[in-house]
Amino acid sequence: MIEFLLAFFKKHGIRAWRDEIGNVYAEKGEVGAYQKYPLVVAHTDTVHLIHGKKIIPKKLLLPNYAGELKPALKGFDENDNPVGIGADCKVGVALCLILMLRLPVLKCFLPTEEEIGARGASKVDVSFLQNVGYAIEFDSPANTSSITLGNKLMFNPEDENGLGKIWTGLLLEFSENRETEFTLEQHSYTDIVKLRPHFSCINVPVGYYLYHTTDEYLVEEEAFMALDLGEELIKRAGYRYYNDEPHPRVNRLIIQFNLNTMEITGEL
Ligand SMILES: [Zn+2]
Repeated sequence: MIEFLLAFFKKHGIRAWRDEIGNVYAEKGEVGAYQKYPLVVAHTDTVHLIHGKKIIPKKLLLPNYAGELKPALKGFDENDNPVGIGADCKVGVALCLILMLRLPVLKCFLPTEEEIGARGASKVDVSFLQNVGYAIEFDSPANTSSITLGNKLMFNPEDENGLGKIWTGLLLEFSENRETEFTLEQHSYTDIVKLRPHFSCINVPVGYYLYHTTDEYLVEEEAFMALDLGEELIKRAGYRYYNDEPHPRVNRLIIQFNLNTMEITGEL
C-alpha cells in the first residue's frame, strides 16, 4: 500500500515521502507567505485480515442511514463469505488521491496504524504541519461527522471565524440541495485527534456502514458526495489558518444542528 501510494504520487509529479513507521506525506503547489495549506487525511491500515487478492467486491442494494436501499459495495471471499471491503479507510485514501490530482495547492497525510489507537498519526512529523491551516479527514461512518473525537472538540459551529461555521453551513446546504441528512456525533478517535492541537479539523462522512465487521459495506453515492463535500469545503475555507474556539456544551451544538436539519427536511 505504501509503495503503491509513493509510486502513484511520483507518477503524477507530486512530492511525496514516507517516515520510518510508514506514514505517507505529500504536497503539491506552493502557498504564499501569509497563506496555509489545507491538509487531507486518511489512514492506510484496515482492521480486516489480509486476504491477498481474494477480496471479491460485489455491488448490492443495501440500506443507507435512512434504511433506503442504495447501490453499495461489499467484499466477499471465494466461498462467498463476507470478509469486509476495507472501505474504512481505503475509500478515504482514494478521495485524498483524487483531491491531490484535482487541486493545485494541497497537502496530504496518510498515516498507518490508526486502528490500533492512531499510533501513526501520533508520530506525525510536526514540521510538516507548520504551514497547514486545517485538516480534513475522510473517515467518518455513514452520514455522520465527528464533532468530538476522544472528547476533544474538532470544530465549533458557533465560532464566527471558525471552520465549524463553514462546515456545518455546507452540510445544511447539501442536506437541502441533495435531499439527504447529516448528523454530528461524538466519536472515540481517528487520526485527526492527534492533529487537533495544531489547527481545526473536520471528519467528513464517507458512507461506510458496519465498519470493523466482515459485513462492512460502502454506499457509493455517499462516497461521491464525500468528495464533493471535501472539495467544496477547501474552496470555501481557502488557504487560511483556523483554530476554532472551545465550547462548554457540545450537546447543545449537536441539538442545534439537528434542529436545523429537521427544519429543512420538514420532519420536525
Ligand atoms: Zn477508520
